[in-house]
Amino acid sequence: MPMRENPMPHDAVVIGGSYAGLSAALQLVRARRRVLVIDDNRPRNRFAARAHGVLSHDGRPGAEIAAAARAQVAAYPTAAFRMAEAVDVSRIDGGFSVAFADGTKTLGRRLILAHGVEDVLPEIPGVKERWGRTALHCPWCHGYEIGGGPIGVLGRGDHAVAYATIVAEWGQVFLFMDPAGLSQDDARVLARRGVTIEPTPIERLEGEAPTLTGARLTDGRFIPLKAIFVGASVRQSSGFAESLGCEMTDSPVGRIVKVDAQQQTSQPGVFAAGDLARPASNITLATTDGMLAAHGAFRSLIEEETA
Ligand SMILES: Cc1cc2nc3c(=O)[nH]c(=O)nc-3n(C[C@H](O)[C@H](O)[C@H](O)COP(=O)(O)OP(=O)(O)OC[C@H]3O[C@@H](n4cnc5c(N)ncnc54)[C@H](O)[C@@H]3O)c2cc1C
Repeated sequence: MPMRENPMPHDAVVIGGSYAGLSAALQLVRARRRVLVIDDNRPRNRFAARAHGVLSHDGRPGAEIAAAARAQVAAYPTAAFRMAEAVDVSRIDGGFSVAFADGTKTLGRRLILAHGVEDVLPEIPGVKERWGRTALHCPWCHGYEIGGGPIGVLGRGDHAVAYATIVAEWGQVFLFMDPAGLSQDDARVLARRGVTIEPTPIERLEGEAPTLTGARLTDGRFIPLKAIFVGASVRQSSGFAESLGCEMTDSPVGRIVKVDAQQQTSQPGVFAAGDLARPASNITLATTDGMLAAHGAFRSLIEEETA
């Protein structure tokens, strides 16, 4: 085993201890690297009762999947956890300093940002209290469980048509959008997918939340629905990437951190993994990103140690 000496307490600090962050930590502790995972337990899917489409975990609660991963990482002697919110990050000589609300700080040689994103929901009454249950974002994650029948789609701008076209696989879709400006090609595709366009805006969702019975429209009509897919946009859960000067990029869902194939950001020593650096994501992709970020960070540590 190579000899290493470094005054920093951690080879890597991972901000965000969910799927991406734990996946990164697992790789690094298996390389006997000292890793601190910081997490304040607000994973994006916390509103959903179960996670689907995750190989060997299909239908298991998302929190259970994360808890099992956390226990496995914690079993390695070089793993450390701090269950708290990181409030500030700065570059220092040889690495990074991460601050907490109680005024304490920790230091690490590399930084892996895995703090995820927050969904920005439309201001339609009834969406928020059904989010993750009958107001959904991803048909691949929750479409099957609806079991067919009438499904609403609230698309955003240019993506509404593509979204409704996909969701139509899982039921009889009502697409709530203004059809003005819809191209003939789009209209034809929607018709072939059996999508009904409903131009009247939704006033509110009805039913005893989280159950959904349907959408009340602004003209008083009621459209029965079993679920509604909402093309939410996202924002970064924390502003660390931008404050560190990492290049950002616009995606169809919102601003994300720009990374290369190794999840390296534009700032040396800063890696980003999971939803915060992906236009569309899920647990599988987030864990893949975490693994890639860890390998990237590991390579950069070796380069420094052998320079
Ligand atoms: C309602 C809903 C249901 C979903 N269902 C599925 C599904 O069935 N299957 C599937 O594959 N995907 C599903 N997804 C997508 C999935 O949740 C995400 O792709 C996945 O959680 C991304 O993992 P992540 O590690 O990047 O971020 P997250 O899981 O969001 O984790 C980020 C972590 O960072 C922590 N954090 C943030 N800021 C700080 C800070 N400053 N200090 C400390 N900690 C911080 C948070 O507390 C959180 O624990 C769903 C998403 C939603 C919104």
